[in-house]
Amino acid sequence: MTRRRAGDRRAHRLDRIIRPAVRAARAYQVPDPGDRVKLDAMENPWPLPAAFRERLARTLAGVLLNRYPDPAARRLTQSLREALALPADQALLLGNGSDELIQLIGLAVTGPGVTLLAPEPSFVMYRLIAEATGCRYYGVELNENDFALDVDAMLAAIEREQPAVVFLAWPNNPTGNLFADKDIRTVIEAAPGLVVVDEAYHAFAGVSFMPALPEYDHLLILRTLSKLGLAGLRIGLMIGAKAWLEQFDKLRLPYNIGTLNQIAAREILAWPELLEDQVSRILSERQRLLAELAESAGVEVWPSATNFLLFRVARAPTVFQGLLDRGVLIKQLHGSHRLLENCLRVTVGTPEENNRFLEALRDCMR
Ligand SMILES: *Cc1c(COP(=O)(O)O)cnc(C)c1O
Repeated sequence: MTRRRAGDRRAHRLDRIIRPAVRAARAYQVPDPGDRVKLDAMENPWPLPAAFRERLARTLAGVLLNRYPDPAARRLTQSLREALALPADQALLLGNGSDELIQLIGLAVTGPGVTLLAPEPSFVMYRLIAEATGCRYYGVELNENDFALDVDAMLAAIEREQPAVVFLAWPNNPTGNLFADKDIRTVIEAAPGLVVVDEAYHAFAGVSFMPALPEYDHLLILRTLSKLGLAGLRIGLMIGAKAWLEQFDKLRLPYNIGTLNQIAAREILAWPELLEDQVSRILSERQRLLAELAESAGVEVWPSATNFLLFRVARAPTVFQGLLDRGVLIKQLHGSHRLLENCLRVTVGTPEENNRFLEALRDCMR
């Protein structure tokens, strides 16, 4: 048999075996930054203090890796409950990042014609996970200039599409804004299924829908440790009524959070001021970066309640490449959505990183 025929037969088998939606999908692309300044993924730019990391290393050296992790991460869950001051009637479920929790939601609700709905542009994983779990995805455009919720369009879509789940990133990624409180409440009150308020940027926004949990028993809140400074630990949180979270927990793979991650997260949570201090530095850099961008000729920048800024230039792909050539990686959004024409997104870095970005930007817009 020729190599060609063997290849054809494998392709034929693959077409028969792998679902069409998977064959049509493209893997999530994460660019390799090389040695560039990395301002593309909303990471906290500061590592933990060296003395703290050494202590952590000694603690982790004592961990028994021959044993499985605690399947329910009980001690970490308890530490997080205390850190969040969660009332006893709210349950907490941990995921391998909040991405995994979004996936659990998709897996729990999927079926023919089941729809997940989100405003657009928003966090791309809502669409990708909907498609991967066999749900329908429906996007509702935000308002054109300020990226506020288009409440009439949302209500019409909710009425027509009867979504099992509505996702609201609050603040929204990649636009950086907070939707109005009353608009979110209007959506929650109209939704026939679950509403998930994704507070990934909570640390930088200073507001939360957690206090509204007792009012709405179909409301769930997502949080994550990623944007706070622990992206490498992959720890996401889902908060809401026990009756819902119990269902998702059945689909969670046991041991989804490794022992090293559970222990490291607990150690770091015992020193909240470490991360709080970094957050306040990021907030003051956000203000400075916003002011500098606002003063730059040819740049339109939006205010932000997050650790990133969305801005528009005349030719985003050229500027993006120009920045890459000058050693700075940010996020190219042009082409991803109609409302993001010529838009770029930069994560707030250290003062030095932000200066390198600003210099490179000025240089390539000259
Ligand atoms: C980054 C991000 C997440 C994903 O967080 P992980 O916990 O790292 O999986 C979720 N939602 C939004 C809106 C985000 O921007």
